Amino acid sequence: MEAGFKCERCGAPLDVSPETIVAICPYCGFPNHISGNLKTENIFVIPSINKNDVAKAFWEHVEKDFDLRRIKDEIQVWEIEGHYAPYWSGIAHVYGTVRYMRREEECHTDSKGNTHCHTVERHYTERVNEKMNLLGSARRQVESLGVDDLIKHFSKARPEGKRLLDLDEDEWGKIKLEILNTEMDERHASLMMREDAVDIVRNHFLDKSDRIEIFDIHTEGPRDVKLLLLPMWTVYYKYRNSIFHAVFAGWDGKRVAATEPMNVFRRVEYLTGAGIGVLLGSFGAAFTGNVIGVAILMTVGGGLGWFFGSKVLEGQRVERGG
Ligand SMILES: [Zn+2]
Repeated sequence: MEAGFKCERCGAPLDVSPETIVAICPYCGFPNHISGNLKTENIFVIPSINKNDVAKAFWEHVEKDFDLRRIKDEIQVWEIEGHYAPYWSGIAHVYGTVRYMRREEECHTDSKGNTHCHTVERHYTERVNEKMNLLGSARRQVESLGVDDLIKHFSKARPEGKRLLDLDEDEWGKIKLEILNTEMDERHASLMMREDAVDIVRNHFLDKSDRIEIFDIHTEGPRDVKLLLLPMWTVYYKYRNSIFHAVFAGWDGKRVAATEPMNVFRRVEYLTGAGIGVLLGSFGAAFTGNVIGVAILMTVGGGLGWFFGSKVLEGQRVERGG
């Protein structure tokens, strides 16, 4: 802790490190701007359920789960930890033109009834004009289990946040949890969102083409940039001398990720979940090596109705042939 930083509203001492962008007062919830580019009026907190409710959600899940229910007498809750993790969100406008080539199989049947197939190169041009709702961690490392899953779950419902500046001490007292440090300021986050928006478009076209021939894509914004504090709870539990954990979303108590004493089925489910997480994470990371890592995309107001294979990019085919 560096000496001298005190909360502007209540005077309590603040825990400030050299990376701290904003120090949210643990006592009253006031966001104290320390460094970097950030508007404190754009910080929102998604209120959380409390520890007891998380424990309840955990045991409800155990009861509902076929495999866990059978071993529930041997399960012992070890610890329950909650915190708020900071995420930047914003809406970027991407527009432009992409021309690509795709190899396609073309078959015809001759007069004798024999079918011949060969591969042709077809060229397509599509216009892109989309608003993307982007969300990415405001921290430099985001590897822990459940971070991507939390974002995915958040994106489905987008629960209302409360403006931190509007919370008084009492209200803060009801929802307060430890807050992870925000390590990225608004300017940095905006830059990442712009890059991610372009990467998402590029990945989309890489996926469906054999070669991109023209990639003329621009971004505007992002606008409506907010720092969101998302509550995340981890339940550590013991089963036969091993510790497992389950991650819960703090706004609705949904279990979003877990390591579990697995039988084959659970293992498959978990690995599938992890695979999706990696996929989402790769949007941000794969092409620019940047660290926002978990940018995901939705059509605005469209839940997880995103990009891949969706109607988001309705292309105009202007050329066909081989
Ligand atoms: Zn304070």
